[in-house]
Amino acid sequence: MSGLQARDIGITFEGLQPPAEVCEDPECPWHGNLKIRGALLVGNVVKLRARKMAVVEREHLVYVSKYKRYERRRSRIHARVPACIPLALGDQVLIGETRPLAKSVAWVVLGRIKKGG
Ligand SMILES: [Zn+2]
Repeated sequence: MSGLQARDIGITFEGLQPPAEVCEDPECPWHGNLKIRGALLVGNVVKLRARKMAVVEREHLVYVSKYKRYERRRSRIHARVPACIPLALGDQVLIGETRPLAKSVAWVVLGRIKKGG
């Protein structure tokens, strides 16, 4: 169903709000036909150079048993940005896994969790 209102995407997450704007983007989880399935991740926007796409970086800890310590790892994920979600560099966003949208894009930004500084 695509209409004037954001549909219920079935995801609740602290700080996540449906977008204030409405878009006609078919690849929007709120107003288009895009389904979220798989994982949800939180990361920071580090690049906004491509049209409709953001590079989201996330840092996580991996335990190294030999040293009994954690090492920091980071990964960068390409995520589709729907037209109704305005983003700036440094913003913390929630992204959801979806079908492959392009060669390197299989995630979509669901919303901003925290404004970047
Ligand atoms: Zn939208």
